[in-house]
Amino acid sequence: MLTDNIYLDYAATTPVDRHVLAAMQPYFGEVFGNPSSVHRHGQEAEQALIQARKKVSSILHARPDEIIFTSGGTESDNLALRGTLFALRQRRNRLQHVLISPVEHHAVVSTARHLAEEFGYELEMLPVNEYGQVDAADVAACIRPETALVSVIYANNEIGSVNPIREIGAVCRAKGVLFHTDAVQAAAHFPLNVQQDQVDLLSIGAHKFYGPKGIGALYVRRGVPIFGLMGGGKQESGLRPGTENVPYIVGIAEAFEITQDEIVNCTQKFILLRDRLISGVLENIPRVRLTGHPVERLPNHASFVFEALDGNKLLMLLDMAGFSCSSGSACKTGSPKPSEVLMAIGLSRSWALGSLRVTLGRDSTEEHVERFLEVLPKVVKDARSL
Ligand SMILES: *Cc1c(COP(=O)(O)O)cnc(C)c1O
Repeated sequence: MLTDNIYLDYAATTPVDRHVLAAMQPYFGEVFGNPSSVHRHGQEAEQALIQARKKVSSILHARPDEIIFTSGGTESDNLALRGTLFALRQRRNRLQHVLISPVEHHAVVSTARHLAEEFGYELEMLPVNEYGQVDAADVAACIRPETALVSVIYANNEIGSVNPIREIGAVCRAKGVLFHTDAVQAAAHFPLNVQQDQVDLLSIGAHKFYGPKGIGALYVRRGVPIFGLMGGGKQESGLRPGTENVPYIVGIAEAFEITQDEIVNCTQKFILLRDRLISGVLENIPRVRLTGHPVERLPNHASFVFEALDGNKLLMLLDMAGFSCSSGSACKTGSPKPSEVLMAIGLSRSWALGSLRVTLGRDSTEEHVERFLEVLPKVVKDARSL
C-alpha cells in the first residue's frame, strides 16, 4: 500500500476483489481469442462471454439477450437516453418530452441537457422532496402524451437517498412510457429485479462493486426501440460494436455475482456502522445536517453539510489527518460552485458548499468509524477557522 490512510470513499470506487481478478486472469493470456472468430480460440472466448451474460441477466431477472456490455455507468446512461430517444424520434416524431429528476448523476443530467439544447428535446425536471426523492404520483402527473422517457436514479451517489423505483416503474408502464434507472450505486447494495420494478432500461458499472473500472452494462428490455451510438460490427446486438472486452466482461459478471450474493449477510453490518457514524457526527459537531433520507438510504452511505465551511478544505484536512473522503459531487478544488443536487433539496449556498460524503465498504470496521469520529470535530473546527 502506498498510503495507510483509511479509505471512506467506496461510493467513488472500490478495489477489485481478488476472486474477480483471478477469474479475469486467463482471458488476458491463454484464452485470448476473438469471440467473433469461428475457430476454437474464438469459441472459447465466446463461451466466456455467454456465461458472463447469463450471470448478469439472471441476477437482474432478465434474459441474456437483454444485456449490453458497455465501458461503464456513464456509457450505459448515454446509450439508454440517446439510444432510445433517437430511435423513438425516428418512429414517432412527437415523442420529444423527457422527464428526469434534478438529483441524477452527471452522466444522465448532462446527456439530457445536451439532447435538449442540441437536438430539440423538451427536458423537464421532476419535483423532489427535501431528501431528494421522487414521488411516483408526481411522475404520473408530469407524464404527457408526448413523453418519451422517464429517467430516475435508483440510489443517489451524493446524498444516498433511495427512490421508489417499483412505484415509478408501475406508473410508467401503465402510461406506456419508457423508464430508465441509473442503478450504478444501488447495484452494490440492493437486490435488483427488472421484472418486479417494471424497468425498461437499467445501468450498472463494475467499479462500484469491486469489479474493474471501464466496464458496465445496460439492461434493455426486449422490444424497446434503441439505436447504438456507434457504427461497426454486430457485437452486443449491434448496439455496442467493436471486439468485446472479454476479461473485463468476465470480471463484471463475477463481481456482480459476489456482491449480490453477500447483500443478505452484509447489509446489517453496514447499517450499524453507518448509523453510528451519522449519530456520532450529528451529536458532536455544531451546525451540521444530514443530507438525504435518514433511513431510505444506501446502507453504506453517510452524507452531511456543515454551515460556513469550505468542503474542499475539509477534505484536504481530513486527508492529512488520515482519511480519504469525498464532498459527494464531482466539484473539484478551485471551483466553488455548490452541487446542483444540494441546491435541488433546498439548501442555501452557505450550507451546500460545506458537503462531506463518507461511504463504507468491505474493509470498513468499527475502529475506522470510531477513529474518524475522534478526529472530525477538530478537523471541522480547523476548516472553519481557515
Ligand atoms: C459512478 C456513477 C456513474 C458513472 O459510472 P462510471 O462507470 O464511472 O462511468 C453513473 N451513475 C452513478 C449513480 C454513479 O455513482
